[in-house]
Amino acid sequence: MGRVGTGSTRAVVVVGGGVIGLCCAYSLHRRGFEVILVEAGRPGGGASAGNGGWVCPSLSAPVPGPGVLATAAKWMLDPGSPLLVRPGWDPSFWGWLIAFGRHCNRRDHDRGMGAVAALASAVTQQFHRLQEAGVVFEAHHQGLLLLFMSRRAAEEEMALLRRIPHLPPAALIERGDLSQAEPATGGLPAAGVLAPVDFHVRPEAFAAGLSRWLEQAGVTVLPETRVVALETRGGRAVAAVLAGGGTLPADAFVLAAGVETARLSSRLGARIPLRGGKGYSVTFARSSPPLRHAIYLSEARVAVSPFREGVRVLGTMELGTDAVAPNPGRVAAMLRAPTRYLPQLTLAEPSPPWSGLRPMVPDGLPVIGPLRRVPNVIAATGHAMLGVTLAPATGELVADILAGDPLPSFASALSPARFSS
Ligand SMILES: Cc1cc2nc3c(=O)[nH]c(=O)nc-3n(C[C@H](O)[C@H](O)[C@H](O)COP(=O)(O)OP(=O)(O)OC[C@H]3O[C@@H](n4cnc5c(N)ncnc54)[C@H](O)[C@@H]3O)c2cc1C
Repeated sequence: MGRVGTGSTRAVVVVGGGVIGLCCAYSLHRRGFEVILVEAGRPGGGASAGNGGWVCPSLSAPVPGPGVLATAAKWMLDPGSPLLVRPGWDPSFWGWLIAFGRHCNRRDHDRGMGAVAALASAVTQQFHRLQEAGVVFEAHHQGLLLLFMSRRAAEEEMALLRRIPHLPPAALIERGDLSQAEPATGGLPAAGVLAPVDFHVRPEAFAAGLSRWLEQAGVTVLPETRVVALETRGGRAVAAVLAGGGTLPADAFVLAAGVETARLSSRLGARIPLRGGKGYSVTFARSSPPLRHAIYLSEARVAVSPFREGVRVLGTMELGTDAVAPNPGRVAAMLRAPTRYLPQLTLAEPSPPWSGLRPMVPDGLPVIGPLRRVPNVIAATGHAMLGVTLAPATGELVADILAGDPLPSFASALSPARFSS
C-alpha cells in the first residue's frame, strides 16, 4: 500500500460511530488531527452494541477456511444450526458466495490468519493504553474457555491455536478438571481449551466510554446525523460530506459505517463487497452459578459472556438478509446450547433478542486503507466477528495511513485495492 498522508492532512471526518469509527476518531485525535465523527444514530448503537465484547486474538482465523463449505452444506439442511443462508435471486449475493467459496482453502486461510494475527498482536496493550488514557469501560481478564463435546475437536483447536502467530500457549483441560475450572460445566463437555490471552469487555460500555472520552477531549461527535452524499473535487478526492442538512469539509474522510460502507464507497466508484452476517444475542439479568470465563460452546458456535451485571448468550450467522428483526426460531435454537454444555447454569430474566450485522467480505479479512481512485478516503470496515478485538488496532493503522507513516507489511493484505481488478 502506498503512502497517503502527506503530513498536510489536518481535518478528518469519520463517518460511523461504531467501535471502529470511535477508535479511528480516538487514534486520529491523539495524533493531532482535528476530528469530526458523524453517526446516523447513537454512537455504538449498531453491531457494536449487543455483541459478546470478546477481545480474542485466538480467534484470528478468518471465517472462510478448509472444510467450511462441507460444514456449511450440512448446516443448511438443519433449521436449528448456527448458519442460515438466504441467497434469493440477487446475482451479486451469488457472486459473493462464490467468492467466499474460493477463499475456503488452506493457502488463503493461513495468509489471512497471519494478517489478522499481526493486526491483533498488540490488542492487550492497546486496551490497557485506552484505560490508562482515561477511557472508562468494563473489562474481564480471565481468558476465554472453549468447550468441546468431542476431545478430538479440542485437540484440533489446540493445533490451530499453535499455528496462529504471536499467540501465547493455550491449555487443554480434561473433562475431569473442567468443573474446577468452570463449575457450571458439571463435568459434561469432553474437554476445554483455555486461551489466557483473550479477555472481554462490555461492548456497550466500551463504545459509551470511547464516545464520552472523545467529547471530553473536544472531538465533535454528531449523533443522529446521517451522511447522505460525498462531494468530490475533480473526481480524485472528496472535499466534503453532506450530513444533517449541512456540509462538512475536511482533508480526509474515514468510512467506518459498518455494512453501509459498501453503499457509500460505491458512490465513489469503489467496490467493497460487504454483506451483513446477522447474529443475535439475549442478555439475562440473573444467572447462577457465576461464570468465571467468557465461554465458547464450540460445536454449537454459541458464545456466553458474563458481565458485571448479567450474562449474554450470542451466536448464529444469517447471510442474505439485511433486515435486523430477529428470527424467533433461530433465537430459540441458540438459547438451547447453554443447557447442553453448562448443565448447572440457570439463566433468568432475558432481555428481548438483539440482532446486529457483522460487516463481512468474502475473504473474511478487514478492509482498511485508501480507496484507489479517491485516496483521501480511507475505508475501515469488514471486521466480521472481530470488530471489538481489532478496533484499537484499526484506529492506529488508519492514523498511520493518514499521518504518512511507514505501514506494517500486513497492511497490503487488508487494502480495499484487493477488490479492484
Ligand atoms: C452476535 C454478534 C456477536 C459478536 N461478538 C463479537 C465479539 O465478541 N468480539 C468481537 O471482536 N466482535 C464481535 N462481533 C463483531 C462486531 O460486533 C463487529 O465487527 C463490529 O461491531 C463492527 O463495528 P463497526 O463500527 O464496523 O460497525 P457498526 O457497529 O455497525 O457501526 C457502524 C455505524 O455506522 C453508522 N452509519 C451507517 N451509515 C451511516 C451514514 N451514512 N452516516 C453516518 N453514520 C452511518 C451506523 O449507524 C453504525 O452506528 C459480534 C457481532 C455479532 C453480530
